[in-house]
Amino acid sequence: MYNSRKLPLDMIPSEMTEIWSCMKESCNGWIRDNYAFETVPTCNQCMSPMNRSMKSLPILLDSSYDLKLTLKRIAAKKEND
Ligand SMILES: [Zn+2]
Repeated sequence: MYNSRKLPLDMIPSEMTEIWSCMKESCNGWIRDNYAFETVPTCNQCMSPMNRSMKSLPILLDSSYDLKLTLKRIAAKKEND
């Protein structure tokens, strides 16, 4: 059976988002800027310093927190209808 609760990922619009990407060429580690609490974060894969960069990411998947908040808003809207 098709799982209708799963979000259709190809329908979520993408947006250029600020990220930190690992400076080590052989490593593809990166984190979202929201998650970087240090001035210059270190890669959690290889401990190298990271570089500010941009990446196109799906808007809704900004974080699990945002996703939950979005779903809550949709649910609240339904109740008010
Ligand atoms: Zn790395």
